[in-house]
Order: sequence, then C-alpha cells, then structure tokens
Amino acid sequence: MQKLLSANIQFLKGVGPANATKLAKLGIFTVGQLLEHYPRRYEDRSKLKLIAELTDGLHEAFRAIVINTGELKSHRGFKIIKIAVRDSSGVAQLTWFNQSYIKNKYQPGMELIIFGKIQRRQGVIEINKPDVEVVTESNQGGGQIVPVYPATEDIPQWQLRTLIQQALHRFADSAATEQAETLPDGIIAGHNLMNRRQALSCIHFPSTMEDLAAARRRLVFEELYLLQCGLAYLKQKTKQNFTGVKHSPDGELVAKIYKNLPFTLTGDQAQTLREIKADMEDTTPMQRMVQGDVGSGKTVIAAIALAKTVENGYQGAMMAPTEILAEQHYHTLAKLLAPQGIRLAVLTGKLTRRVRDELLQQIQEGIIDIVVGTHALIQDDVEFKHLGLVVTDEQHRFGVRQRARLEAKGKQPDVLIMTATPIPRTMALTVYGDLDVSVIRELPPGRIPIATFSRSNDRRNKIYAFAVDQIRAGRQIYVVCPLVEESEKIETQSAVKLYNELSTTCLSNIPCGLLHGKMKSQEKDAVMEAFAKGEIKALIATTVIEVGVNVPNATVMVIEGAERFGLAQLHQLRGRVGRGRHKSYCILLSDSTSEETMERLKIMTEVNDGFILAEKDLLLRGPGQFFGTHQHGMPDFKIADIVRDTDILLEARRAAQQTVCSPKYLDKVWQSLQNWYGEKFSMIFCR
Ligand code: ADP
Ligand code: MG
Repeated sequence: MQKLLSANIQFLKGVGPANATKLAKLGIFTVGQLLEHYPRRYEDRSKLKLIAELTDGLHEAFRAIVINTGELKSHRGFKIIKIAVRDSSGVAQLTWFNQSYIKNKYQPGMELIIFGKIQRRQGVIEINKPDVEVVTESNQGGGQIVPVYPATEDIPQWQLRTLIQQALHRFADSAATEQAETLPDGIIAGHNLMNRRQALSCIHFPSTMEDLAAARRRLVFEELYLLQCGLAYLKQKTKQNFTGVKHSPDGELVAKIYKNLPFTLTGDQAQTLREIKADMEDTTPMQRMVQGDVGSGKTVIAAIALAKTVENGYQGAMMAPTEILAEQHYHTLAKLLAPQGIRLAVLTGKLTRRVRDELLQQIQEGIIDIVVGTHALIQDDVEFKHLGLVVTDEQHRFGVRQRARLEAKGKQPDVLIMTATPIPRTMALTVYGDLDVSVIRELPPGRIPIATFSRSNDRRNKIYAFAVDQIRAGRQIYVVCPLVEESEKIETQSAVKLYNELSTTCLSNIPCGLLHGKMKSQEKDAVMEAFAKGEIKALIATTVIEVGVNVPNATVMVIEGAERFGLAQLHQLRGRVGRGRHKSYCILLSDSTSEETMERLKIMTEVNDGFILAEKDLLLRGPGQFFGTHQHGMPDFKIADIVRDTDILLEARRAAQQTVCSPKYLDKVWQSLQNWYGEKFSMIFCR
C-alpha cells in the first residue's frame, strides 16, 4: 500500500505525461499526494439556491445557464469580462478583470455551478471572480456532497474527482488499509479516530456531514500528533543532553552590570532573567524564547545573559536581522557592558576585507568577548574560540536553519531567541514546540500609551500640519510609505516619490531624510545617525525601519497606505514611537473601504497590547499568512488549521507527550514521521 501511495501519478489510468505535468503544478507527483489534495470546500447540491434567493454579502452556490458573454473596457483601461446567466427565477452577472480567456471558455447554453460572494446592487446580482464549474454528464451523478478542490486552470474539477475516486478504489483491500496507517493502533482506539483509509475516502466523498467531520478530525489529529511527537522528541533530546555549557552562579561582573543599570528591571524582566539564569547554570543547553512586545525591554535581558557567559570565560554572539538593528544593539550593549571591561565588536556585511579579516582573527583568538552582527555572523569563516551563548533577535526573520548554523559555531552553546512578535499560544505550541518560553508582558513604567487614529486621505494635510507642530515643539516624526511586497524596486520608487512630494509640500522647510532598502549601508547609517542626533526631523522610510529602531524623541508615526499592512506589521511600526517621555501618536492613512481593512484599522486604534493584537491577527488572517510556517523550516499544514483546531491540537499534544515517554509506539511513529516529512525530516527533527 505504501507502494501504491508512493507510486507515480502516471500509474493511474487517464494520466499520461501531459496530465502529469498539469498535476505537478499542483504539487502532485504521487498517488498519495493526489489523495492528500484535500477539497477546499464542499457543495451540498441538495442545497443549491435559486438566483432569486441569493443573499447579498454571503458566499453561495447556484446552478444556472449561460445566456451570453461579453467584454468591456473600463475607463481605467481594464478589460472587464461579463457573463450573464439565468435560472428559472432570474438572472445574474459574473465578472472578471483582465482575464479574456474566460470569455471563450463558456458558451451560451452551458450549464454551470457557480460559487462566490453575492453582491446585490439595485436589484442586479453580480458575482465577481466566482468559482465556476461546467455541469457535464460525468459530474452529474454521485453523492449530494461534492468536493470542490482549489481552483486550477488546467484541470477541471470533475477530472480531479474521477482520478481520486480511481485511486481510492485501488486500495480497497484490508492489507492495504493496514499499511497505509500512520498512527499506532492504541492511539486510534484511544482517541476514537477513523483509520486512515476510511478518512481519506470520507474527506473526498463524504456521505454525510458527520462523516466528513470525523474524517477531517482524524486527518488533523494525525498531522498535529506527528508534528508534536517530533517536537516532543526534540525537546526530550535536548533535555537529556548533559554536555552543554554549565555556567556558574552570578559573580562580580554580573553583579556590577546589574548595579549600574540605568533603571530598575520590571517584574517580568526580572522573572525572565531568573529563568535564563537557571537554564544557563544547568548542563542541558538552554533553548529559550523570550517573547516581549516592542519596547518591553528585551535588549537589557540579552546584555545580562551575554555578560554572564563572558564572566564564565566564554564568548557571546547576538544576531539581528538588519544592519541598522545590529548596530543599534551593539551601541546599547556597549554602553552597558564596555565600562566593565567587556570587549565588543560588530560584524556586518559592510566591513572592508581587511577590517573583517582582522576581526575574525580576534574572534577566533577569543580577544573579542561579544560579537553583534547580521547574517554575516553565520558565514563559514567566522570561528569562535569558545562560544557559550547565542542570542538571536527578532527571531521570525530567521529560519531554523540559520539559527542552527550559528549554534553550530560552538559546542552546544546556550540559545536565547528574542521575538517582538507576540505569538499566540497555539502558534507557539506548533512552531516552537521544542522551546521553553518566557513572556514579558509588562512594559517599563511611565510609558504613555500611544494614541492611534485611522484617517482617510482627505485629512492628510491636517495630519501633516499636526506632525509639523510636533516637530516645532522639538519632536521628530516617521512617515512610512505604502508596502509593495513583490518588489523592493517599486517600493523604493514609491519612497523616493513620497519623499520628493512631502519635502516640497507639507514638510517643506523641515529637514527630511529618506531611508529604503536599496540604499548603500553607509548612506543608511548616515541617515539613521542624523535622525538619532535630531538633525533630521522627519524620516520618510520603507518598512526597513520596522524592527527595533530606537529614537525616543520621535513621537509621530504616519503610515501611508495603511491598508497594505497586516496587524502585526502595523504594530511593529507603531512601536517605533512611544519610546520616550513624550505623548506619541500613530496615524493610519487609508482610503480603503474594504470591510476587512476597516476592521483591522479599527482594532489598531483600540488595542495597544501586542499579545491581544496577535490573537486577533491570527483570527483575521489565518495561520498561514500570520507568518508562514515554512519560514521556520516547518512544512505548511496539509489540513490542520491551528486557529480552528485548537482542541485537537491540545489533545494531540498530550498524546504525543505520552508517546515519546513510552517506547511502545515509538517505532511506528518514527517510521510515520520519516514518511511524512520526507527529506525535510532530518532538518527539522535531528538538530
Ligand atoms: P525591545 O527590544 O523589547 O523592543 P528595548 O530593549 O529596545 O525594547 O527597550 C526599549 C526602551 O526601554 C529602551 O530605551 C530601554 O532603555 C528602556 N527600558 C528597558 N527596560 C526598562 C526598565 N525596566 N525601566 C525603564 N526603561 C527600560
Ligand atoms: Mg528589540
């Protein structure tokens, strides 16, 4: 059976090289992958609506006949493709933009099943970009609950259904059922799960909604359970490793650093440091993540932990995602640590060859105690004499692999990961299940909450007038230009344009600076330094300023095109202000009228707590978008949705924790894990 599942897709009747190429585009190369191509939704054909019954704003399905097709040009030059359809109760318009080929796909008289968001405007029903399926002989029949797969141009729905049906038929016998199973028998029985074959069959062709729910539960459980077993195993392995660096209790050096701190630590900071201290003084390598909202004071935590490793005769390394941030950390750490004789250096990609070589030499000889740097730190020729602690800041920008490369520069160094993106619990359990977590919720005292406003562009001049008032009062401002995800080049252009516009209009007579990712390091540094010194009053920037930048005198953050940013990112950007003694403001400019955007911007004006925002963000955008799990080296989930499936996640996690402690199931699970993750297995679980 495992053989059937891993068989090439061409093994199926009706799949030759041409269809195989089309299926490959969907990531389907084997029969098993075809069966794991799960439906995106289901159509209950007993519940198709009549056109006259369709409700504005809902996603609904109906069956109708094509009357005619046509193409218009909009005044902005778009092509609009329109298809009119009717049923016994009325007519509806289907529309697409710039997709002329659609016009030829559907001819008058064809019968279609249409699914999409219904818009009723003055009695006219319109569906923009609907899912459309042509009703043919071959997809008429079957059950009433019909699977609908993620849409593709090349392969019609009915063909996918037929192929999946064929694949399911092929493994109908009981030996096959047994071999396809990924879960230990005891787990299946103990958690009341369908077997895998049954589940695969029901997820595609359920006879009832209850069957479907049971099938889905089984497959979600399987996916989360296997991942949790891997993570639990990983954690157990670290805990049983007694060859890590054992740090001594705090001595004079650390005491002096504490004594000379310019402030009193918050309760959460002190608690986090106690947890770190305990980890570091243990022989098991520390694997701890510190989650703290922007401005919660994570840098000082890193400083003290790094001082501790230096006190014990080791070196420390701290990796940050950008040069700006690496340098800023270097300065902050140097201020706290250099007075006590600790030797620090910064390593980024911009050092000249000669300077770099000299620095590498010093690191290797142990003359440098602490190195702060960017990715430059993980290059092969960077060698430490004896690395005791590795800190990575803003973890979500680094993948597991990069983290592991830095860790590999020492012999089992302690590891501290700091992230400013608060991670909802479910997310932390799946993506970081192998790490211990400390949370800093409390902000340093005396912070005045940032006032956030959402405004449309007709108020733009007023907003900038307010910003100018702030500048006249001695403050500084940031302006962030709209996000362009696809291309740094276009983003740069838009930053330059905004800079040119603002510095000659709303902000004329104000010293303005421009910062974007395409600038040379030296240029960026010069601008950042001028801003930090207060020579530049208004900094117009792309999201390069998103992480970590700390200029306490800045009190206004204007975000243009705010609709393009997600909650997490808006919150990060907002965190650049409100860092000093003065009241700060964040203004979100947007003309978007999309409901989702307005909801998001409204949440921003109401919620300042990054942890609450993160939960909301996860709900609004779903886990995939929240931050792609693959960024962490984890494959995406095939079916689990950790927002929706929290209960199953917790159940699977408990089961997994028992599994790794009882050898009874381990062989089976181990085998399944290897099949499941394939070549990624060792990268994820054998660190
Ligand atoms: P994070 O990296 O968590 O965003 P930082 O470490 O940059 O935050 O700290 C933000 C600001 O708060 C810095 O100016 C820092 O000096 C200050 N700070 C940190 N901890 C405290 C504290 N306990 N009391 C007062 N100020 C603090
Ligand atoms: Mg920080």
